[in-house]
Amino acid sequence: MIYDKNNIFAKILRGEIPCKKVYENDYVLSFYDINPQKKVHVLVIPKGEYIDLDDFNNKASDKEIVGFNKAVTHVANLVGGKDKGYRALTNIGNDGGQEVPHLHIHIFAGEKIGKMVS
Ligand code: AMP
Repeated sequence: MIYDKNNIFAKILRGEIPCKKVYENDYVLSFYDINPQKKVHVLVIPKGEYIDLDDFNNKASDKEIVGFNKAVTHVANLVGGKDKGYRALTNIGNDGGQEVPHLHIHIFAGEKIGKMVS
């Protein structure tokens, strides 16, 4: 599969579509999900062009992988996850229910998240 440069998160990264930013550094952008499924629902995306977690783990540099993973923890802490916990989740491909073909980690927090899979 080839990376689609016109997916919605690529447009957010280019500043063509606005987002409600939570955090940004050299490796990631984090913003609130437009359709929150829990009290707190934020997304963390890498700045590089990666379709999903497998694509990222196969192609990203070690620096990007470390930078991305540390940012996920940082963002989770920013939204309250350090004290009360949270869920980090990523969907991959059709069966995984992925809608936007740019890697994103969902962070759910702010309340009991509930069952693992529904
Ligand atoms: P997934 O099904 O894992 O690909 O999740 C895609 C997520 O992106 C969904 O939770 C959407 O609500 C969210 N989403 C789609 N468009 C936007 C947008 N413009 N800003 C923020 N979140 C978005």
